This record gives sequence, C-alpha cells and structure tokens, in this order.
Amino acid sequence: MFTIGYAAQTAAAPLAPFKFERRELRPNDVAMEILYCGVCHSDLHQARNDWGFSLYPIVPGHEIIGRVIEVGPAVTRYKVGDNVAVGCMVDSCMQCDQCRKGEEQLCRERNTQTYNSRDRITKEVTFGGYSKHLVVREEFVLRVPEGLDLAKAAPLLCAGITSYSPLRTWNVGPGSRVGVIGLGGLGHMAVKLAVGLGAEVTVLSRSADKADDARALGADRLLVSTDRKAMSAAQSSFDLIIDTVPSRHDVSPYMALLDIDGTLVIVGQIGPIDEQLTIPFVLGRRRLAGSPIGGIAETQEMLDFCARKNILPDCEMIRMDQINEAFERMEKSDVRYRFVIDMASLSEAG
Ligand code: NAP
Ligand code: ZN
Repeated sequence: MFTIGYAAQTAAAPLAPFKFERRELRPNDVAMEILYCGVCHSDLHQARNDWGFSLYPIVPGHEIIGRVIEVGPAVTRYKVGDNVAVGCMVDSCMQCDQCRKGEEQLCRERNTQTYNSRDRITKEVTFGGYSKHLVVREEFVLRVPEGLDLAKAAPLLCAGITSYSPLRTWNVGPGSRVGVIGLGGLGHMAVKLAVGLGAEVTVLSRSADKADDARALGADRLLVSTDRKAMSAAQSSFDLIIDTVPSRHDVSPYMALLDIDGTLVIVGQIGPIDEQLTIPFVLGRRRLAGSPIGGIAETQEMLDFCARKNILPDCEMIRMDQINEAFERMEKSDVRYRFVIDMASLSEAG
C-alpha cells in the first residue's frame, strides 16, 4: 500500500513530504487511515538525532488515532470502520515474562517502536504516524472508547500513558501528594490524570507564567522551581514527583521536596544527570526512578479511564505542513499543551 507522510532525511533537515509503502497485511494485521497524530517532544528529539540512534529517513509520530480500513483474515478484535489508536509500540516478543504480564514496554527483547525501529520479521525501519496510513498487528492496536473526542484523544497515546503508568505503579489515589515538573505535553496530562485519581497536585514550573493554567487543569498550586524560598518551604511534602523535563538538569533541588519513602520518577530526559548526593536517599529512604510509556492493557485502561472521567488533553490543531514551525515552538515551550496534526490536511500535494 502506497502512502504519504512527512519525513526528515537527516538530523539537520526539516520534515518534508515523503512517499513510501506500508506492508501488505499479515493475517493478524489491522490497516488504518490516520485521522490525527499528536506531536511529542520525543518526535523532535528523534528527528534531530538527540539520542544518537535515529535511522533516516525518519517518519515520526506515536500518538495516533485512526479508522480501520482493512483487516487480515485472523483479526478478531477489530472490523472496518472501528475507531482505533496506536501509541509508541507496534510489536514485542510476546513470550518473555514482561510481555506475559502485559508489560510489553519492558519486553526483554525490546519492544518494536512505532517509528525509528526495525520490524521483527522484515527488519525494515518502522515509520510513524506523520502519515496517511498505518499497518499494525492487532495486539498493539487500542480501541478508542465511545464518547472520547477523536480530535483530542491522540496525545493520550504517549503523553497520557507515560504519565498514567507511574501514577498507577506508585498507587496514587486520594490523599497522595503529587508534584509534576514541567508543564508541557506530558506534564499537563500528569496533572489531569493525577487529579482524576484523586491526588493533591502541585505543578513545578520555571516561572509563574503558567499558574492560572495549572489551576485550570485541576492542580492545587504552582510552585516556581527557581524560587529558593518557596522550594525550601515545600521540603518533604511530596509522595511522588513526576519529572518531565526534556533536557539535562539537576534533580537535587527536587529530591529535597520528597517526603520519607517518596519517589522522583524521571519520564523526560534520556541522558546524563548531574552528580547526586546520597544524603536524601539514605536519610529519607527516598528513591530516584524512571518509567517508560506503559503496557497495552494499561494503555487501554487509561483510555477507558479518560472516557469515563472526560479527561482530554488541551490541543492546538495544526496542518501537516506546519510541523516544522510546531517543532520550533515546542522547543521554546510555546505550546498549550499539545500540538495535534489533523491528517486531513495531508494530501498528495504535501
Ligand atoms: P514539552 O511539551 O516540550 O514539555 C516539557 C516541559 O518541560 C516544558 O513545557 C517546560 O515546562 C519544561 N522544560 C523545558 N525545558 C526545560 C529546561 N531546560 N529546564 C527545566 N524545565 C524545562 O515536552 P513533552 O512532550 O512533555 O516531553 C517531555 C520529555 O519526555 C521529552 O524529553 C520526551 O522525549 C520525554 N518522553 C518520555 C517518554 C517516556 O516513555 N518516558 C514518553 C514521552 C516523552 P515549564 O515551562 O513549566 O517549566
Ligand atoms: Zn511520545
């Protein structure tokens, strides 16, 4: 199946129209027309090879909402016309202990990512959601619950699940005191989801600019992370802090905000962190942890939870040809709070 999309040909090149082929359907494959695709900061990192493992040409996009247009003969869960979704993974070994317990994101043989990864059978590079069509095995396709606004749901597939998974892992619920560092795509979903789970939520931002937004999203308050006095007054007052900062930073000022047995979970930056003092870990039995996306079952649970609670990302809709401008704005944290590409804007003409 021929399709069209947007790709970067090198780390320095802007995204531009790109024609390519999607594989013929395998028996357990679902083919979909992509309706919407969210723009994650990881797309920007990978288009620019910030992590050093990008394969070019690269077609980013892993927050995908689509409609089924064809199914393979062995597909049982989906039929033509269903509203479906795909996140960051499109395959895994499905045999290891992690896959068996529904943690495909932690597959011992590594999951196959939606883009910039290699198909397990053909070894061809996978291409993501900045395109018109997608073919994915049915086990990695999610169902969009009734009532969830299709145009806004896309960011749930990465920003949503990446925030939801640590909230569930660390048992956040009524009475939990949750901090969220960085009010961007992931951060604003972490706020909405933690509030939805009943937690008391504080946003930690570099300035007070987003204070009104933080409250509108449901947070109790915004703490300015550069305000030493306010940071000092907030010491030992959080059970869980989710760190979404996309670049190298010092986590020590945030560690001091954790109460005894508290955990700071990094979901943002991939790369080195500044040298850590062991004092907060030893004296307060505090933990520094990390967390990647979430499993397929947990992603479906999150979508159903969002439909039930009417939790949706705050989206700014863009056309496909505005993607390079969107990347530039995202780099400056000038997005409130997720760009979503309306794929109807992508035509043969680019
Ligand atoms: P985003 O929309 O750009 O938001 C990041 C936020 O972090 C910004 O809004 C800003 O908030 C804050 N920030 C930005 N630069 C900063 C700096 N230099 N120092 C301190 N704070 C800074 O990005 P996103 O899409 O949420 O993604 C965030 C990170 O998560 C990216 O690195 C992405 O690759 C990663 N990610 C990881 C996973 C995973 O599986 N773990 C999944 C998806 C994304 P304030 O203005 O409020 O300070
Ligand atoms: Zn992402």
